[in-house]
Amino acid sequence: MASVEPRQSVAIVGTGMAGLITAWIVRNDSRARFDVEVFEKQKTLSLDSASLTVSNLSGDKQRVDLPMRAFASGFYDNLKRMYDYFGIEYGKQKFIFPFSIVENETEPGRSPKIHTSFIHSSHTHQFPPLRPQGSTWLTWLIEALYLGICYLWIVSCSIIIKPKEANGSRPSETFRQYAARIHLPQYFVKNYYLPIMSAVTTCPHNALLDFPAIDIVDYQAKTFGNSHYTVIGGVSKVQDKLSKGLNVHYSSAAIRVENVGAKVQLTWKNDITGLTESKLFDHVIMAVTPDVVRAIFPPLRSASLVGGIRSEPGLPSPERIHLCSNSSSTEFTHEHLSSVIITTSPILPIDPSKIEHTVFFTRTLRTPLSRKVTKEIFDPKTSGDFGDSKQWRNGDGNIWLVGSWCWDGMVLLEGCIASALRVAEELDIEVPWAL
Ligand SMILES: Cc1cc2nc3c(=O)[nH]c(=O)nc-3n(C[C@H](O)[C@H](O)[C@H](O)COP(=O)(O)OP(=O)(O)OC[C@H]3O[C@@H](n4cnc5c(N)ncnc54)[C@H](O)[C@@H]3O)c2cc1C
Repeated sequence: MASVEPRQSVAIVGTGMAGLITAWIVRNDSRARFDVEVFEKQKTLSLDSASLTVSNLSGDKQRVDLPMRAFASGFYDNLKRMYDYFGIEYGKQKFIFPFSIVENETEPGRSPKIHTSFIHSSHTHQFPPLRPQGSTWLTWLIEALYLGICYLWIVSCSIIIKPKEANGSRPSETFRQYAARIHLPQYFVKNYYLPIMSAVTTCPHNALLDFPAIDIVDYQAKTFGNSHYTVIGGVSKVQDKLSKGLNVHYSSAAIRVENVGAKVQLTWKNDITGLTESKLFDHVIMAVTPDVVRAIFPPLRSASLVGGIRSEPGLPSPERIHLCSNSSSTEFTHEHLSSVIITTSPILPIDPSKIEHTVFFTRTLRTPLSRKVTKEIFDPKTSGDFGDSKQWRNGDGNIWLVGSWCWDGMVLLEGCIASALRVAEELDIEVPWAL
């Protein structure tokens, strides 16, 4: 059906999950009002760019998603609805998590010692839990009981004792403060809780302790007792669905986004020609990490958005995920069914001859301050005292932000969809899978 409304031009920067979902939504406006161009600094779409296909021991090809991009019922409702709408198949994933501590890893001349204290199976699918080698029945039983009590305690607290919200000049409570307030034992926090949550957030323990407690407690409460899933055959299937017919400028890194009159000017550098080009659009949607936003969008250059860290990446039968910690971080090692081993944030050196593929990601961290600023940008009505009326807010000047960090919650895939749906609502676009 021909559109009777004037068409508007939209530029989307970034082709991760957030950029691709937003592009799909805007292009599929039922009133066909938008012409969409996408800009990606890489040579390919980025959602699936780090994944690889490997042959398993029987010679069959298997797709290994990097990062894994697992999701769970309860927390990822929008993501699940979108996958269902596109007919993306996903399967329940069972995991086995051996928790280990590495000692002597920095002492010259001494070989590192790894001690496994407990082996947890997701949703207790393995009952009784597996007993680590070297653990006696008695020590194993004591450890299991202790963990059970600590876990019950934190789950009950997450329902009964809510983390403190920001109040006036006092920022929202950090996980460090919350854990102390509910008397969560240090041993449990250090050896079990931080390692398992590090697997979700890919960051050092200290950074995780500084997360807003509400993020962690909310994630735990929503995923408690729910199954985890991964896309069968890999997220390339999601990428294919979302990007069909998309007009993408590859090797084109956005370097500036600014308002010029009633339009938005996007300036980008083409890595192949070396040329810098500019074009005016009616809307520009940035689907990039906050460090990139700060670099290309002057109004947020000095905003305390969120930190980014770089980290190395890390069906039916359970897959082992080894959580091996030292005093400051946890290495996440995934024995993939294909027989490859995926290690994220390695503590011990890896023999270079065994490395098939290395990839770097930026992981966005949260703090009470970045949470406050993010809420002010995206949800000024609920952000409490918001003194600076000159602060740029999402949508001002027809410039928008989407991404896993663009909502009030853990920086995960669900944030990509929630933020894309917010733009859809503002532009009055109906989304077929939205409630
Ligand atoms: C190791 C690891 C494991 C994870 N596991 C999970 C998990 O199991 N479940 C889960 O829900 N989440 C997981 N996450 C988080 C999740 O994958 C990310 O938060 C999410 O993919 C981010 O999507 P995004 O679209 O917001 O941003 P990104 O995927 O970062 O996309 C940004 C895009 O912008 C492009 N870009 C950057 N700068 C420019 C520029 N100047 N011009 C043009 N393009 C530019 C980039 O190339 C990229 O395409 C994991 C993350 C990591 C690192």
